[in-house]
This record gives sequence, structure tokens and C-alpha cells, in this order.
Amino acid sequence: MNQQELLDCLIIGGGAAGLTAAVYLGRYRRRALVLDCGGSRLRKIPRTRNVPGFPDGIEGPALLQRMQEHARKYGVPTTATEVQRIERLADGTFRAESADARWHARFVLLATGARDVEPEIDGLHAAMQAGQVRYCPVCDGFETQGQRVAVLGRAGHGLRESLFISGFGNQVTWLSMATQEEVGLQELAQLRECGVRLAESPPHRIECGVEGCGVRVELQSGQVLEFDTLYPALGLHHACDLATALGARSRPDGQLEVDAHQQTTVDGLYAAGDVAMDLNQISVAAGHAAIASTAIHNRL
Ligand SMILES: Cc1cc2nc3c(=O)[nH]c(=O)nc-3n(C[C@H](O)[C@H](O)[C@H](O)COP(=O)(O)OP(=O)(O)OC[C@H]3O[C@@H](n4cnc5c(N)ncnc54)[C@H](O)[C@@H]3O)c2cc1C
Repeated sequence: MNQQELLDCLIIGGGAAGLTAAVYLGRYRRRALVLDCGGSRLRKIPRTRNVPGFPDGIEGPALLQRMQEHARKYGVPTTATEVQRIERLADGTFRAESADARWHARFVLLATGARDVEPEIDGLHAAMQAGQVRYCPVCDGFETQGQRVAVLGRAGHGLRESLFISGFGNQVTWLSMATQEEVGLQELAQLRECGVRLAESPPHRIECGVEGCGVRVELQSGQVLEFDTLYPALGLHHACDLATALGARSRPDGQLEVDAHQQTTVDGLYAAGDVAMDLNQISVAAGHAAIASTAIHNRL
């Protein structure tokens, strides 16, 4: 694709949202291009089991590959690159730049996703593939039935995630990264009500892939606990900088504010998937992308 050409839409990010938008815009016979630097969260999913149409589940990388093929089939290519800057030109169009190239488009759909804050644990990737470390209880809380589950996270996020996971018929322990005395009375009551245990002190060392049990946690107090699964609940960094640099409003957690058509607070700049306000899920990303690309098509 000629880089000087005025595209109908530039899609930044080639994960679940960006590639769904590519399929829609391709089928609307629009000139679109995906720019992607290869870090989709889909790559981390050992097997997703809640995507419609895959009752036996599908591995994240295999799903990504199918989505890439689907976008290509309708004539929307992907260029491997990292976009460093987007500029709004006086005529209302957008210019995007990487280290060595530029693109020009009437609309931009930002589908840059988010990045999980990862704990420092040796062999983290292998533990994720083995289901010993999980990131998304909405996605795979179901798989923890009957298991001993640890949740690693500070007050707020860690508490919410512990309470949520406790609804799956498992035994949850919150590794709160604070001493028991630092956890409030109201929080203690919520934990009790849901049957969640609170570790007596913050974790000192976490080991995965331990023979006979999945995860071994040594607390600062010296106590050793064993679990089948660990959920780090350390938060996400939403990749919103390209949009906020243009003046788009984001929430405190970095998710971009969007309207009912997925338009950010900047005219012509749309957002879909994890980077936009909503539940971080593949089907939500696809839904956002369908709405955004149809709104863009209707404005062209
Ligand atoms: C371990 C794990 C398990 C999960 N399991 C499930 C599950 O079972 N079911 C489910 O529904 N969801 C699951 N999720 C969540 C799901 O992966 C995300 O909700 C989904 O991938 C979001 O799609 P997206 O397109 O917004 O972002 P992504 O798929 O992450 O894609 C964003 C893309 O944008 C690219 N990008 C970012 N910045 C730039 C830039 N400046 N220039 C170019 N490209 C850029 C990134 O490299 C990436 O390729 C899971 C997530 C994790 C981590």
C-alpha cells in the first residue's frame, strides 16, 4: 500500500479489536490498513474457552492467526511496525508516524490494547501455559473449581479480584502484600462473607512448577502455602498514549472514554478493545470494532 495514499481508516493495533475492524472495513470495501507491533494479549492465552463458536476452546495464537487470515481475505493488510505519533492535520485528517514511515488517513481506529503488570516469578511463561498462573478470572475462573487459588494484589484491585474468584467453588487466599493489621474491618468482613482467607503477611517468594503442587508461596512470616493456581491482580497498563497526546480523555486507569459509537473525545478518532472503556474480553473487543467500523463507514 502506497504510504502517501489517503486511507479511509488507519487501524492501529492488530489484535482482537483491530483485526475485527479490518474484516468489517474490508467488507465495506474501504481502504484500510492495520499497523501492529506484535504484542497482542491473545498470544498469551493457552486456550480460551468462552469465545462463541469454539465449544472446546481454541489456543490464543491459533485464534490470532485465524483473525489475521480473515482480515487478509477481505483485502486489509497488516504492516509490522510501532506507531509513535499521531497528528491531526488542519483539514481534519490524521497522520501517523513510526520510526521510518508515515501514513495518512481520514479516520483512525485505535486498538492498541493493554499490557498486564507481571509479577517477578521465574518461569512465568511456562506457568501460564500450565494454567498455574492466570490473569483473567472472567475468562477462566470456571477452570478453578475445586482448586486452591491465590490472588496477588494490593487493596482495591486484589480485594475485588479475590471476592470475584471466590464465586467458583474453590478455596481462595488473598496475598494482599500488606500485613493482616493493615487490612480494614470492612474488607475483613467482605472476605469472611465470601470465605476468602487472608495470608498472615505479605509474600516473600513465589515459585511455580513445584513438584506435587503448582505454586509455592513463602510469606515474610516464614509460613509456606501451596496453591494450584495464582492470579496476579497487579493491574493493566492501557496503551492510550497516542490518543491522550491528541487530547482524548481517559479514565484514571488509562481506558479511553468513548461514546456509543466508540468515538473518543477527539472527532474522527475511535477506540476499540481493551484500550477503550469496558470489560477486557475478546468478544467485547470484537463488538467494539463492529460498532466503530460501521460508524466510520457511515461517515465516509
Ligand atoms: C492470559 C490471558 C488470558 C486471557 N483469556 C481470555 C479468554 O479466555 N477470553 C477472553 O475473552 N479474553 C481473554 N483475555 C483477554 C483478551 O486477550 C483481550 O481482551 C483481547 O486480546 C483484547 O483485544 P485488543 O485488540 O483490545 O488488544 P490486543 O489483542 O492485546 O491487541 C493490541 C495490539 O495492539 C498493538 N499495539 C499496541 N500499541 C501499538 C502501537 N503504538 N503501534 C502498533 N501496534 C500497537 C499490540 O502490540 C497488540 O498486538 C486473556 C488475556 C490474557 C492476558
